[in-house]
Parts: sequence; structure tokens; C-alpha cells
Amino acid sequence: MGSENETGNILPPMDLLSLTCDELAAALHRHYGKGLFHARALYHAFFRHGREDFRAIPELEASPVLATALHRDLRAGLPPLVARHKEGGLQKFVSRLADGQEVESVLIPMRTHVTVCVSSQAGCRQGCRFCQTGTLGLARHLTASEIVAQVVSARRLAGVPIRNAVFMGMGEPLDNLDAVARAIRVISDPHGLAIPLRYITVSTAGLADGIARLAALNFPRLNLAISLNAPNDAIRSALMPVNRIHSMASLRQALAAFPLHGREAILVAYVLIRGINDHESHAGELARYLRPLRVRVNLIPLNPLPGSPFAPPAEDQVERFRAVLVGEGVFVRKRGTAGQSVMAACGQLGRLQKHRGKPTAMDHPPRPDQA
Ligand code: SAH
Ligand code: SF4
Repeated sequence: MGSENETGNILPPMDLLSLTCDELAAALHRHYGKGLFHARALYHAFFRHGREDFRAIPELEASPVLATALHRDLRAGLPPLVARHKEGGLQKFVSRLADGQEVESVLIPMRTHVTVCVSSQAGCRQGCRFCQTGTLGLARHLTASEIVAQVVSARRLAGVPIRNAVFMGMGEPLDNLDAVARAIRVISDPHGLAIPLRYITVSTAGLADGIARLAALNFPRLNLAISLNAPNDAIRSALMPVNRIHSMASLRQALAAFPLHGREAILVAYVLIRGINDHESHAGELARYLRPLRVRVNLIPLNPLPGSPFAPPAEDQVERFRAVLVGEGVFVRKRGTAGQSVMAACGQLGRLQKHRGKPTAMDHPPRPDQA
């Protein structure tokens, strides 16, 4: 994004990927005396039709001076994709950022629509013991532009509009909330990617203060997911260091205060690990913990990591765990195929970084207007 002067105005060069259409209009007004008409045309051309050369946009043909100035001042480049990897119907892709950091995203075709899972950080500093991304540590936060770029790349790869965006890739979104909030504003902007807030989900490992800050941003109908993964503080603190700072009691308070609309519920992810958190007594304890909350539970048998002592439970144990929850009146789903459990598909990103050789730069997928 362009730098800001002392009055808070965005100065060129501006980054289209981090501006809402209204913000772009305000910037065009300040710098060139133009406004909403041109902002909408640019926004449409880039986000819907993949055009990056603004001089070719019909609405700018009558304003060649503006077109040239925008060509100079408005950035709209996507990071190159350096790897793509198909896995059981999913498509993972790796973007190489300007400083060489690489982040993964996942494109998940569902029966009727396409979901993209985006990363919010390069690596993650929460250090959850069962998670591949956790082993990387945090390299840095992503900018809003770098987050939005993943959705734009996904749309180009999919060749169709993206319906759902989930912040379940690398990183902890509430540890980078300012950029995540800005990215949400951009990807939900009705003039661009237009992903409705009710189709956007932010997943957190449980930063209770971050949940409160997210609630205060008042995104109507934005979905919240919590990676709970344990029935009590002892187990949770052993698996997820974040729990030593934000206990399950403080987490529940923050979840209870998160505004839900209509029939919506908070999505609770519970990764089942054999002999650690998968006993029927744990299911009972989990049900009691969740009783005051409106939730849907997603049971995800662990995806084992190489060299890790953790294993998934046997299928019949998953079933016994589920049956206890159902008996307690909890709405619960088991993971089916990869595409049905977005969390399982997005979880543990970071393998491509660790296990592939030197990447070869790939061309970006064709833009819709070129395909
Ligand atoms: N940091 C956020 C966003 C990442 S979401 C969060 O943790 O919620 C990634 C999801 O994948 C989380 O629900 C996490 O619990 C899950 N996950 C991590 N490692 C996993 C593994 N080895 N097997 C299955 N799910 C895993
Ligand atoms: Fe980070 Fe989430 Fe993985 Fe924990 S589960 S290490 S918070 S990405």
C-alpha cells in the first residue's frame, strides 16, 4: 500500500489489493480529482476480470492522462506462484512474496461452490504441538495485500468466483488482526471479489483478547471458528501453549460474548489424537464445557506429522467420542473426505516448504481475460 502522509492520506504508489473501492475512490479524488466511477471501473476490471493494465480499461480510454498516471501509481501485482500441488481434489498453491517468504493456500472445490483457505502469517508463533505450521515458528505477519492476493490467485486458478474464504491456513489470524480485518474488508467489497461476510470464517487457536477485538470490529455475520482440541486446561496447555495465557474459562467468556446472528453458531474444531484427548470421558467433559455456547463441533482425526509421536484414533473410537457428544445434545460432524472438512484440509500447512527442493518459478495462472 502507498505510504501515508501526516494527514493520513494515502500517497502513490497505491496498492489496489489493500484498498476498498471507497478508499480507492477517495484516493483517486485526492490525487487526480476523479472518484467513484473510475474506482469502480478499476475495481471491476482487476478483481472480476483479472486486468492489470489499467490503460486498456474502456472507462479510462477517454482519460489517457489518468490512465497513464494510474499505470504509474497503482500497484496490482500478484506474487508469483512457485508450486502447485493437487491432493485428493484439493489444490494447494505456494505464493512467493517479495522478500522470498513463501506461503501456502488451499483451493477446495465443494459440490456446489469453491472455498479458499488463506494464510495470515508466514509461519506461526503459537507452537501447537500437533501442527506442521507450528514447527516453522513465525517468520512475519502478512500484509492485507498479501492475504487478498491469495484469494485473487485462487479465483484465477479456479476459473470461477470464490464463494467461501476461510482463515485456516498458515498462521494465527488474530495475531495479525489489523491486516486480517483490512483483507476481510477488501475481499467482501461488493464491487470486487464480493465474498459475503457470512461466507468468511476466521479460525483462531484461542486468543481471547483477539476474539474480543474481532467482535468489536462489528463485521455482521462474520463466522468464527475456534480450534479447541482439548476438553480441559491440563490437556489443552500441553498441546497448545496459547492456553497457558488464555485459559479455557477466559476463552469461553470471549466466545460467549461474540455476537451471533439468527441461527448461526461458533464452529469448534476438535482434532482427535489417540490416547491424548479422545476418551469418552473427554467427550463428556467437552460437552459440559460447551453447554453455555451455541456451537457446531467438527471432529477431525489427526493428520499425523512425520516424526511426531501423535497418532489419530481408530475409527470406532472416533465414533464412540461422537456418540457421547450426540447423546449430550451437541451438534457434531465427523470429517468425511478432505473437501468436507475444510479445517483438516487447511491444517498443518508448511510441508511444501519443508519438503520440496528448490522451487522453480511458475507462471501465474492465466487471467480470465486471457484464458
Ligand atoms: N491458527 C488458526 C488458523 C489455522 S486453522 C487456528 O489454529 O485455528 C488450522 C486448523 O488445522 C486448526 O483447526 C488446527 O487445529 C488444525 N490442525 C493443525 N494441525 C493438524 C493436524 N496435524 N491434523 C489435523 N488438523 C490439524
Ligand atoms: Fe498456529 Fe493454528 Fe497451527 Fe496452532 S494450529 S500452530 S495456532 S496454525
